[in-house]
Amino acid sequence: MANPKRRHTRSRRDMRRASNWRLEIPALTHCPQCHAAKRTHHICPSCGFYDGQLLRPVKEKKKGKESPEAEG
Ligand SMILES: [Zn+2]
Repeated sequence: MANPKRRHTRSRRDMRRASNWRLEIPALTHCPQCHAAKRTHHICPSCGFYDGQLLRPVKEKKKGKESPEAEG
């Protein structure tokens, strides 16, 4: 087994740990249908279009939480 020859400093140890804990931001593009931000290779969450086709009809959301409806 390979063993480290020298102990790394606290600074190097902490830099190594600090570089790995962040989450990656998913790649975002804009929907060609409604121009909202959407993830690449995903159906647009705001209009339900993908590749120019309506694949998942989206109900229009009302502003506010006036009428709480139980949605699946
Ligand atoms: Zn869209």
